[in-house]
Amino acid sequence: MNLLLFEAGERDGAGLLRIRGPRLAHIREVHGKQAGDRIRVGEIGGLIGEADILACDEREAVLAPQLQFPPPEKLPVILVLALPRPKMLRRVLRSAAEMGVAELHLVNTWRVEKSYWQTPVLAPATLREYLLQGLEQSRDTMLPSVHLQRRFKPFVEDQLPALLQGRRGIVAHPGNHPPCPRGIEGEALLAIGPEGGFIPYEIDLLGKAGCEAVSLGPRILRVENAVTALLARLF
Ligand code: SAM
Repeated sequence: MNLLLFEAGERDGAGLLRIRGPRLAHIREVHGKQAGDRIRVGEIGGLIGEADILACDEREAVLAPQLQFPPPEKLPVILVLALPRPKMLRRVLRSAAEMGVAELHLVNTWRVEKSYWQTPVLAPATLREYLLQGLEQSRDTMLPSVHLQRRFKPFVEDQLPALLQGRRGIVAHPGNHPPCPRGIEGEALLAIGPEGGFIPYEIDLLGKAGCEAVSLGPRILRVENAVTALLARLF
């Protein structure tokens, strides 16, 4: 945890924060902090800064935050991701938030197992927990918005055109396509397929909506690695 995140509502009338539970354990055991030290903090949805640790024992830590700086800029990208299996979904949520994705659409595709939509990871509180872990890592406070798109065709036909307004549409698909561009200017929408890949019909539909198919070369990456590699290469 590189940033201790808190909700605005956690501060008392004097602006102090009382930290208990896992965050307290982290402050004491991982950071080895005690009363008199300072720690980097951020208000979820707000500024980041430092906090004086006024008191700290096994029960709670009392912090006096001073928030001064905005969080880092988000990447200018909307990520459209075929819903991966739960274990990978947890990792992808963390790394998408960590890398600065501002908006994530989890979509159904032909090769997405129907059972994946039943995972408890998709419960709003659990999703939020994984996203916060990514933000804590990269010292960000702004939660990405997550949208569940359970029907591929209506999403691509009815919603994608509006999302693509003013954005370059890119779908990563292994095969004989132009190489994925590097360091692009402006906003983009990036679509990444499921573990079995998009089917030709889906690539066709995405193409008609305005997404160009690009390749990362002959090496087929796991979804979690494809997300990181593509974002790093595009921006
Ligand atoms: N067998 C699948 C196929 O050929 O499409 C592999 C799918 S891959 C595990 C999961 C997703 O990551 C793909 O749908 C694509 O979006 C992205 N991906 C992985 N490796 C890629 C590559 N070399 N070029 C383009 N996209 C890639």
